[in-house]
Amino acid sequence: MRVYADNAATTRMSETAIAAMLPYMDKIYGNPSSLHSFGQEAAEVLQQARETVAGLLGAESREIYFTSGGSEADNMAIISAARLGAKKGKKHIISSRIEHHAVLHTLDKLKKEGYEITLLEVGREGRVKAEDVAAAIRPDTALVTIMYANNEIGTIQPIKEIGAICKEKGVIFHTDAVQAVGHLDINVKEQNIDMLSLSAHKFHGPKGVGALYCRRGLILTNIIEGGGQERGKRGGTENIPAIVAAAAAMKEACENIEKHAIYVSALRDRLIKGLAHIPHAVVNGSGEKLPGIANFCFEGIEGESLLLLLNKDGIAASSGSACTSGSLDPSHVLLALGLPHEVAHGSLRISLCHYNTIEEVDHIIASVPKVVDYLRDISPVWEALMEGERPHVI
Ligand SMILES: *Cc1c(COP(=O)(O)O)cnc(C)c1O
Repeated sequence: MRVYADNAATTRMSETAIAAMLPYMDKIYGNPSSLHSFGQEAAEVLQQARETVAGLLGAESREIYFTSGGSEADNMAIISAARLGAKKGKKHIISSRIEHHAVLHTLDKLKKEGYEITLLEVGREGRVKAEDVAAAIRPDTALVTIMYANNEIGTIQPIKEIGAICKEKGVIFHTDAVQAVGHLDINVKEQNIDMLSLSAHKFHGPKGVGALYCRRGLILTNIIEGGGQERGKRGGTENIPAIVAAAAAMKEACENIEKHAIYVSALRDRLIKGLAHIPHAVVNGSGEKLPGIANFCFEGIEGESLLLLLNKDGIAASSGSACTSGSLDPSHVLLALGLPHEVAHGSLRISLCHYNTIEEVDHIIASVPKVVDYLRDISPVWEALMEGERPHVI
């Protein structure tokens, strides 16, 4: 049995999304910027896709900018807000320690340019406190950027509260909602969100396409210069097949949020219950979480070895973020929870979706304890723990 349990890294495209994109490869293939009928047909479907995405977020179509994905949308939002702040002499940005690298590395770049960055702590729960955001805001704060839901441990952040605080204080609020869109109900106006990033391949759409919602009145800075596409803010001929498929996938996902959440969270709970007998293990992050993500740490083992052996059993999982740079550093998210390095190393992220079955989850439940036992048997660290030469942490 081959089980795909890495849906936080990427998802399989839905049949609806595939069907939606096909006609725009060979039948309606004009460039939306062209004045002739071929171009105008493409411009029309582009506008329809923009309206679909906007409607599903509670936004206006002119507030949606299509990008190459979540990373580009994050870069564009953060750089734009930073530039707007600098014009008013505001060069302080607030974020959290558990953001995606698309956010953290963009902030690193701004830091080198002289911006001051505050990264909020998340505690063992893995959640930013709205009052911490309020306390961190200064007169020179240009931007608060806090992710909607974490991609490694699934914790959902108090977005509406943070948005209200930012609104009151006149600070731009961006959220990386790449893991949340299509999985949780979102309304940018009700939740006081100024900017929001999304990516189609996290909700069964194609890879390489996403969008940035940017509230009317906020001026974006171009990351890619070009021919004036996307209201002049993002150059490059629009990827019409991918954009159409992204909109179709988003519509399908948003219409089924509740149904999928009930099914997927039942699978996840079965998984957590099925692995609960493994000693010296912990489920990371607590409180409100995404339906599909379960993140574990097993003391005395290496996450990488665990993944390789699970892969031999046909199970595709992850030890955290898919964006490992080949380094053996443990996940920055797990370290932010306060887990010691050696425990954070033994992490396993299982991320499920509505295509997964009970049989697949039962296969994972059968395999993980076997693999954990095997690795602990050959682990000098586990031996030291068992001999009492070092204390158990979990
Ligand atoms: C996947 C992901 C991204 C990056 O999106 P891409 O479309 O792959 O560039 C950004 N943020 C989060 C939280 C993600 O899960």
